[in-house]
Amino acid sequence: MPLKRSWVASANSAETDFPLNNLPCGVFSTHRQDARCGVAIGEMILDCRRAEEAGLLFLPAGPLFAELSWNRLMAAGPEVWSALRARLTALLAEGAAERDHVEPLLIPMAEARLHLPLQVAEYTDFYAGRQHAFNVGTMLRGPENALPPNWLHIPIGYNGRASTVVVSGTEIRRPLGQTRAKDADKPVFGPSRRLDIELEVGAVVGTPSEMGRPLSVAEAQRMIFGYVLLNDWSARDIQAWEYQPLGPFQSKAFATTIGSWIVTAAALAEFAVDAPPPEVPLLPYLQEEAPGLYDIDLSVEMHPEGAAARIISRTNHRELYYSAAQQLAHHASSGCAMRTGDLLGSGTISGPEPENFGSLMELTWGGERPLQFTNGVKRTFIEDGDVLTLRGHAQGDGFRVGFGACSGRILPAVSFP
Ligand code: CA
Repeated sequence: MPLKRSWVASANSAETDFPLNNLPCGVFSTHRQDARCGVAIGEMILDCRRAEEAGLLFLPAGPLFAELSWNRLMAAGPEVWSALRARLTALLAEGAAERDHVEPLLIPMAEARLHLPLQVAEYTDFYAGRQHAFNVGTMLRGPENALPPNWLHIPIGYNGRASTVVVSGTEIRRPLGQTRAKDADKPVFGPSRRLDIELEVGAVVGTPSEMGRPLSVAEAQRMIFGYVLLNDWSARDIQAWEYQPLGPFQSKAFATTIGSWIVTAAALAEFAVDAPPPEVPLLPYLQEEAPGLYDIDLSVEMHPEGAAARIISRTNHRELYYSAAQQLAHHASSGCAMRTGDLLGSGTISGPEPENFGSLMELTWGGERPLQFTNGVKRTFIEDGDVLTLRGHAQGDGFRVGFGACSGRILPAVSFP
């Protein structure tokens, strides 16, 4: 599909993340206006609450934008999502008859503060990157036993914390925790010294499912409203000591940063690609008919305090082994109820080469190979004052469907006790 041209001039640039083809969903406020839902269009945000109040959206079952998140709209289901997308596209397209009514509802993004776009119901994190699982497993157990025996059969996950999911730009306090050094016989408590990122894409569940009823992969795919960039901050030293036998706990619970914009599944549909063929046949409930991954270029920028920022990793969403729909189907397979606003982390997305790895643990191979920056600055893990930024976009013909930035700066640990 070519660029859809808009009367908002900045939306027609080949470089913007937010052409008319995208229309991602966010929540914003300004110094004059309290927080409300909006969609990004070029360098502007369309105020959806005022558009609905002005009678411009023609949506059934309204009002859908009286709340401070997209949850009500998401719960309204795929037909309403499509109707909204079609209507917004008509209002913002070049030559739109309603332009004079819509133009006063645009706010420059530069004047807006962005908030969490959804009320996160629950957060589950998966482990669906084969290269990441292989790398981490190799470091822990050697290459022969790198993949756990269940990995090629189950999209492995754990239940994380919704309470500490924060929006891009939120400063992150270095976590405290219990660690045990390799040769020590006793653990100690204090600030993490191996603080890391995980480059992930989060799937946002739009419509809920009933307790006791499993979902097919196709049903699960229809329930996914959209996707966000997701940085699953991880304290590797806390993780190494605590993770057996029940998986990560405090090492991941202190913060998860998501991007400000939910890019809808509809906007990404033309970039859909098949997951790689399974290396062993999947059980029928996990088999996927429609392509469930996307050709989304992803990058990590690191800005150490005292040095120039640079890109330390580039990878792509298509490197995953399981899709979000397969993960969601697996999540509900026991009868677990899924809720509007559930967030499913993909797992770290690492590509095949070292420059494609999605965490510092892998990029520096457990801290053995420091990354070099200007001014002689080196990094293995994150130090206080460093800023990490994820970016991502799908490349169309003369336009991109982008996610904006997912960024966070690390603050020193609090002193405790
Ligand atoms: Ca993770």
